[in-house]
Amino acid sequence: MCSFLMQYPEGHVSRSIYAIFRILSAPPTSDGLLKEFFPDLCLAIWTTTPWTVPANAAVAVNAKLQYAVVEVQSLEGVSVIPENKEKRIGNVLKEQKKLFIIVASDLVPTLEAKWGTKLVVKKTLLGSDLENCRYAHPIDNRECPVVIGGDYITTESGTGLVHTAPGHGQEDFVTALKYGLPILSPVDDDGKFTEEAGRFGGLHVLGDGNGAVVNYLDEQMSIIMEESYKHKYPYDWRTKKPTIFRATEQWFASVEGFRQAAMDAIGQVKWIPPQAVNRISAMTSSRSDWCISRQRTWGVPIPVFYHVESKEPLMNGETIDHIKSIISQKGSDAWWYMTVEDLLPDKYRAKASDYEKGTDTMDVWFDSGSSWAAVLGKRNGLGFPADLYLEGTDQHRGWFQSSLLTCIATKGKSPYSSVVTHGFVLDEKGSKMSKSLGNVVDPHKAIEGGKNQKEAPAYGADVLRLWVSSVDYTGDVLIGPQVLRQMSDIYRKLRGTLRFLLANLHDWSVGNSVSYDDLPIIDQYALFQLENVVKNIKESYENYQFFKIFQIIQRFVIVDLSNFYFDVAKDRLYVGGTTSFTRRSCQTVLSAHLLSIVRVIAPILPHLAEDVWQNLPFQYTLEDGSTAEFVFESKWPMLNERWLAFPVEEIDFWEKILELRTEVNKVLEVARTGKLIGSSLEAKVYLHTGDASLASRLHEMCAAKTEADTLQRIFITSQVEVIPSMAIELIEKIPYSGEYLIQQKDRVWIGVSYAEGLKCERCWNYSPQVGSFVEHPTLCGRCYNVIAVQPLPSMAAVS
Ligand SMILES: [Zn+2]
Repeated sequence: MCSFLMQYPEGHVSRSIYAIFRILSAPPTSDGLLKEFFPDLCLAIWTTTPWTVPANAAVAVNAKLQYAVVEVQSLEGVSVIPENKEKRIGNVLKEQKKLFIIVASDLVPTLEAKWGTKLVVKKTLLGSDLENCRYAHPIDNRECPVVIGGDYITTESGTGLVHTAPGHGQEDFVTALKYGLPILSPVDDDGKFTEEAGRFGGLHVLGDGNGAVVNYLDEQMSIIMEESYKHKYPYDWRTKKPTIFRATEQWFASVEGFRQAAMDAIGQVKWIPPQAVNRISAMTSSRSDWCISRQRTWGVPIPVFYHVESKEPLMNGETIDHIKSIISQKGSDAWWYMTVEDLLPDKYRAKASDYEKGTDTMDVWFDSGSSWAAVLGKRNGLGFPADLYLEGTDQHRGWFQSSLLTCIATKGKSPYSSVVTHGFVLDEKGSKMSKSLGNVVDPHKAIEGGKNQKEAPAYGADVLRLWVSSVDYTGDVLIGPQVLRQMSDIYRKLRGTLRFLLANLHDWSVGNSVSYDDLPIIDQYALFQLENVVKNIKESYENYQFFKIFQIIQRFVIVDLSNFYFDVAKDRLYVGGTTSFTRRSCQTVLSAHLLSIVRVIAPILPHLAEDVWQNLPFQYTLEDGSTAEFVFESKWPMLNERWLAFPVEEIDFWEKILELRTEVNKVLEVARTGKLIGSSLEAKVYLHTGDASLASRLHEMCAAKTEADTLQRIFITSQVEVIPSMAIELIEKIPYSGEYLIQQKDRVWIGVSYAEGLKCERCWNYSPQVGSFVEHPTLCGRCYNVIAVQPLPSMAAVS
């Protein structure tokens, strides 16, 4: 089989020619035999690569195009077009013999102008009528056919008839396969004509060879015009020299034998995002045989020997096994430095002089596509297949496919269980990054900072990692200074939350924990929420949905906790006695939060997590009794089913309480704006609801047995009273009020007045008790108990 060597760019000037090939025979058309009407009929072609004419095997036409037989009449005997460097009239036009040629009808006016001749249309016919005309090859008189080519044949340029050299062009090659045309490529590795090219042998095709072909064709009266032509032409990107297309012998891996197995395996793999399965399926089902050989000076060799004379390849199980054992010991370079004799197994050694080594290398996609074989199952801790292959979406054509094909062919299985594909990184506006636009985000600069630290601060690796987690990578993702700044803000808030936790656990030890059953309900609810979050984050990690983790962390750790539990906890932590139940129970909940949050963020924010871990103010023992020196040794937090089993009706009730708290805050805000109160502790809140069961539950909570569950602590006000009715005498002295629907069904009336009693100097809560303690006249009852009955530290440790 054959393949084409190619590369591209543009601005190349070629010597193009309009040439004519003489028709030998033509099939009958509906109105008779073409050849009888016009005995000297020719096909006119145009080519920018005259050096490919020796390899001509056919002329292709478009079956649907209209063609015309035209008589070429030179104006006033000789062409009126002046000859110059750019243009030269061929001898056949100068000869003034009657000349009939076939060109596409649409091109007649263009060609008249270009050639400076009159083209008289004698007859029109369809391209399909021309199929199977035979013409004489203009150089060696071989009989060649007119064939039907593809839609690439148009009337945009040329003559509408295409010189077909299957050895020098991909489209021509495909046409040749269809018609069984010979694939001639009389050009050697140095770009010179071979002996096969007859009189041109030894000439360089892009130098003297090209000119020699043009001159010879002109001598044979086969050229109408020669003209310089500037166009896109493939150049070698490294040497900046024009390349030539040449059909060469290559090695192919046939995919046919295992295509179905590959398609079946694709169905077993988990593709993330799911639509990726369509891309890989389409590419695998439609791919042609895999050309695995390359002509490069560097690479993994294809272990094949060729007979010096017959050029027959020698490659079988024995030779491959022998070479395999050599390469496994010495590496693939052995192929290049060892002799043929040493590379051949014993059986062939005597005939070593009959063989030479192949110099082709493997397609690099074959190398990377077989990486699974070198890694999986061969290294400690790595099993087969791989859990995950991760790459950009472009690799459906590349690595994902080459890995799949090599593995299916040899093991009958896919080398991966799941594949994650991601989009590309664009700038903040969604434009591709480029040096010339100056919109490239250098990861190193984002981490270390730029020269101007104000414009480009050093965000550290964690901020960049947080950004990676925040984006939905299934499409293209955006990054820029603004995005990084936002990430940095979020990172700092998260860090602030963790600092708060660490600071409030400074005197904590696991021995101080309050058992779950004894915890205030608000704490049990907080643990339920925490455990839900841990569970959701775990699921998101398992599904590679990192942006969901980012959203959960942002919402729960930065917004929800700060707005509610931490807000309420401050009173318990700062004002409750050091070793009091209210403080210790709160610390029990905070330590659970710290230990869970630090471990779930560790994969995304390892530096922050490790920083926290190294500063844990208490000794922590894992479930198996060991301690973790580093955060990653602490393993994933085990889900606490008990915490998750918080009763459904309680979940529902606490959601109402949270909503009610938001509404209470709104009325407090109005009272604050009206200058009734400053701090919310200066307020007393009144509640009324017609829903008897809700009213009774709220009433209970005003005097809950654990102080942490009382409504005034939850609202952070000094008092809360549930009033039994909206009787005028009950509400007339309440200056601020509002009515709200809780969960869109329970109507609750909320009132706010100034708090009763005096301000406690210690906790700033208002209480009628302030002033009633002789020793501590400025304290409330709670603070009096803390101050007057503070247990000694040694006793605290015992309790
Ligand atoms: Zn107090």
